[in-house]
Amino acid sequence: MTYVNFKLDTDANGIALITWDAPGRSMNVIDLNVIEELSDIVETVAGDRAIRGAVITSGKEAFCAGADLTMLETSIHTFAEMARARGEEAAATALFEDSRKLSLLYRRLETCGKPWVAAITGTALGGGFELCLACHYRVAGESAKTRVGLPEIKIGLFPGAGGTQRIARMMPPADALRFLLKGDQLRLAHAKDMKLIDAIVPAAEVVTHAKEWIRINGAAKAPWDMEGFRLPGGPVYSKLGMMTFPAANAMYRRETYDNYPGARAVMQVVYEGLQLPMDVALRVESRWFAKILRSPEAAAMIRTLFVSVRELNKGARRPKTLPPTNLKTIGVIGAGFMGAGIAYVTAMAGLNVVLIDRDQEAADKGKAHSAKLIAKQIDRGLASMAEHDALLARIRATSDYGALRDCNLVVEAVFEDRKVKAGAIAAAEAAIGEGAIFGSNTSTLPISSLAEMSKRPGHFIGIHFFSPVERMMLVEIILGKKTGEMTLAAALDYVRVIRKTPIVVNDARGFYTSRVVGTYIREGHLMLAEGVPAAMIENLGRMAGMPVGPLSLNDEVAVDLVWKILKATEADLGPNAIDSRQKALLEEMVEKRGRLGRKNGKGFYDYPRNGPKKLWPGLADLQPSKLDPALIDTKELKQRLLAIQALETARCVEEGVITDVREADVGSILGFGFAPFTGGTLSFIDMMGTKSFVELCKGLERSHGARFVPAKLLIDMAEKGDTFYGRFAGRRAAA
Ligand code: NAD
Repeated sequence: MTYVNFKLDTDANGIALITWDAPGRSMNVIDLNVIEELSDIVETVAGDRAIRGAVITSGKEAFCAGADLTMLETSIHTFAEMARARGEEAAATALFEDSRKLSLLYRRLETCGKPWVAAITGTALGGGFELCLACHYRVAGESAKTRVGLPEIKIGLFPGAGGTQRIARMMPPADALRFLLKGDQLRLAHAKDMKLIDAIVPAAEVVTHAKEWIRINGAAKAPWDMEGFRLPGGPVYSKLGMMTFPAANAMYRRETYDNYPGARAVMQVVYEGLQLPMDVALRVESRWFAKILRSPEAAAMIRTLFVSVRELNKGARRPKTLPPTNLKTIGVIGAGFMGAGIAYVTAMAGLNVVLIDRDQEAADKGKAHSAKLIAKQIDRGLASMAEHDALLARIRATSDYGALRDCNLVVEAVFEDRKVKAGAIAAAEAAIGEGAIFGSNTSTLPISSLAEMSKRPGHFIGIHFFSPVERMMLVEIILGKKTGEMTLAAALDYVRVIRKTPIVVNDARGFYTSRVVGTYIREGHLMLAEGVPAAMIENLGRMAGMPVGPLSLNDEVAVDLVWKILKATEADLGPNAIDSRQKALLEEMVEKRGRLGRKNGKGFYDYPRNGPKKLWPGLADLQPSKLDPALIDTKELKQRLLAIQALETARCVEEGVITDVREADVGSILGFGFAPFTGGTLSFIDMMGTKSFVELCKGLERSHGARFVPAKLLIDMAEKGDTFYGRFAGRRAAA
């Protein structure tokens, strides 16, 4: 067999070096061809008497990024089609056989009678790291950038190629479960401490070290295949086992609220697998893996968090015919909280930055933020002093707008005030060239109205970052009425260079993300006004799958900001556009009690200097009446918290604010953490079925009022049996 992905060289000592280097790809990933070729290689190594052992390494910077998830997506679709054509059982059997191929291959490698060593030259994740685990010895080349781990849980799956069973036999079950359930990507030193890696050597010596191990040692059996092997934590039915599993169940509930079938399967598969011999345990793992692959949660998470994110990153919404923008120097106006972060991510991507503020001191302070962040990277061994110096050399901090002269893109992040923005726009436009693009990071002011202040509205666009800029992966691009295609292309090119994920939305009050997350916060306020205990609201928010409760979230974004937005909405659209109960609550909090949120140390929570935040006891006094907690329908409260956001998203689709379903889902998870197990706000509706969702809304409308009236679009879809992905998927924006 000739190999496309691998190269096999056997040296004079009979040690085969297998170099994995997929052609035309920046990363090695596991697909059907890789499985087929590697199977052949394993048989060659096993059968060739001249070969004494094998070292597998990578010809790329990283070792392997894991399985090609589009392959798994195809398996999910094939299953659905086969289930329709030949019945559920036949389809499930086929999926099981198909999805365990990798597991069988790794087991064959592990038991082929010849020693295998993984020479890890860079990051090894998912199925790539499971391959390393199946090898008899793992050596890694020293690098601060290398990560190893099994992050499958983050897209609703779990390691299904032996990962759960090998990990659970390498460390006590509590550690194994923690590692599998968190899906953390570990640095090498940490991985070595956990005994996931046997040795770390200078990068240039990895292969030599690996070969030497085979020459000197060369055990061709995994510990669990040796006689007398004992589980590191003792048997499941032992004193220690009994102390571990019940506690682990509690931990699992606390972390997931039982929303993630993939995580529950990890608990089960470790518990069951540890009571069985390895081959049977692997079969159990495969059964669960195929079952989870069929779960709506895994399908939705893979679609949104992998497929759609990748498509958007690759420019799904970029006007195709326009040439790439030549971005060299970016202007950032306003070196405050957001501007300083924008300058950092821009300079980190290798672009020059002109960072402007009202005076030199403020501009320097913004630049100092970059110095602080890169210093942290140096502390962690992730950056060098040379990179530090180069980064800071790329940022020019000044109060002189004339310095913007050479910028072809400017991002404004000055105070959220029309007059200040107008001043910044005028001053920048006096300096930049005719063709330059002007982006505003405003969070509340309509882009079209700001564009009116510009001499070149066609070159004006919203580029909305999230805080903290260096951590949040989403950027919301907002099209004004007159924004041109070239402007959109340039903004998307910029977001791509800084390696964030863009969504493109049309201009509307609150754009997309703030508008939808605002409904979550409002629902929390209204529950409080109804008399639901604050702690219950917060817990139910998290139980519904949100990262934080609505009151906590409001504290983070600032209570006075939400109050300001509410007042502006009332002034512009009239009293019916707002809820008087929310108005009364916010007025009391902000105007009468001065509780502005985390920023002044008091909001819905108190923030003591030394200690964790605590719900403010005074909240109970703001409730006109109190409900008996025992009589509260908690299921309905959870439904309200998610349904109101999904409904608002459907309205955004109906009104043309959102024109691509992928962006609604990706934006909701990356922007405000909408319950990831649902796959996002629209996948939430699709998963439930449009008809059931409309029924739910109607029920909530009867008990809670007009804000739950289902959108006309939803009623139409329910009548026709449509889903969002069925009706709109792939539809190009009518932007
Ligand atoms: P900030 O107050 O921290 O920073 C604003 C900066 O702009 C200050 O350093 C100020 O000195 C400077 N500035 C004011 N007038 C200027 C002028 N004429 N020329 C140059 N610099 C000037 O505010 P922020 O939180 O960074 O917000 C900035 C913008 O980003 C606002 O439009 C806000 O709505 C938006 N935004 C904020 C967040 C957030 O979480 N804070 C999130 C997304 C968007």
